Order: sequence, then C-alpha cells, then structure tokens
Amino acid sequence: MDVMALLSGTATSIELLKTVKEIKENQEYNAAVVALNDSLYSVSKELISLQSLYAQALKEKGELEERLGKMEHWEADKERYEMQEIFTGAFAYALKPSMKGEEPEHYLCANCYTDGKKSILQPGQLKGYKIRTHSCPRCKNVFPTMSRGRN
Ligand SMILES: [Zn+2]
Repeated sequence: MDVMALLSGTATSIELLKTVKEIKENQEYNAAVVALNDSLYSVSKELISLQSLYAQALKEKGELEERLGKMEHWEADKERYEMQEIFTGAFAYALKPSMKGEEPEHYLCANCYTDGKKSILQPGQLKGYKIRTHSCPRCKNVFPTMSRGRN
C-alpha cells in the first residue's frame, strides 16, 4: 500500500466516521424533538383542562356572588318586617310601623320568610265560602285572613 492510498483511505474513514457521528446526532436530535413534542402535547392538554376548570370556577364564583348579594339584600330587607297574627293561628310578616312609608300594606308568607325568601301574600277568597284568604304564590300556603281591625 502506498502512502497516497493510505492517506486517501484514512481521509475516507474519517469522513465516514463524521457521517456516522452526524447520523447518530440526527437520531438523538429527532428523538429529542419527538420527546419534546410529546411533552408539549401533554402540557397543552393540561392547560386546556385547567382553562376549563378556571372557566367553571369563574362561573361558580359569579353565581355565589349573586347568591351572596341576594342574601345580603334579604337580610337587610327582612329586618323591616315583624311577625303578626293576621287571623287566629295564622301568622305572617308585616312591615314594622316604623318602616311604613310609601309602600302599600302587605304581608309576607311566614313559611317562605323562614326559608329566606320574600313572598308577598295575595288576597283571595275560598271557593264556595265568603271567607277571605291570603295565599302564597311561592309555597301555595292558603289561610283565612279576617285580619284584626278589618273585615
Ligand atoms: Zn310561602
């Protein structure tokens, strides 16, 4: 083997070694890219899941704030009323004398009042009788109301 052939063979071997090294690096690079894509896919799935949970939490927060606002309003409003016996054994809530202003006289259903709901009793009459009643449009309680001082 002459020197030129030896040098040429060595150069070829070095080039082949570089190519093998590049192939190996490309395979590692490709494997790293695949692993990175898998990781990004997992992260994006988690992100979508978290966004859904966040949207649900925001919705529930809004609903709770609305309920809290109504409860606070009711807590203030209910203090304006006091229980009265509007007929023997029939109780309802009426405006306290100090709270009567421009509002027309009305009664709140005691049952609904206890449930934290403001339900204004509506006047009526028992069918077939000349007995005046008040009924609750919410819980459907009906009771006679020959209120004291009135007929
Ligand atoms: Zn009621």
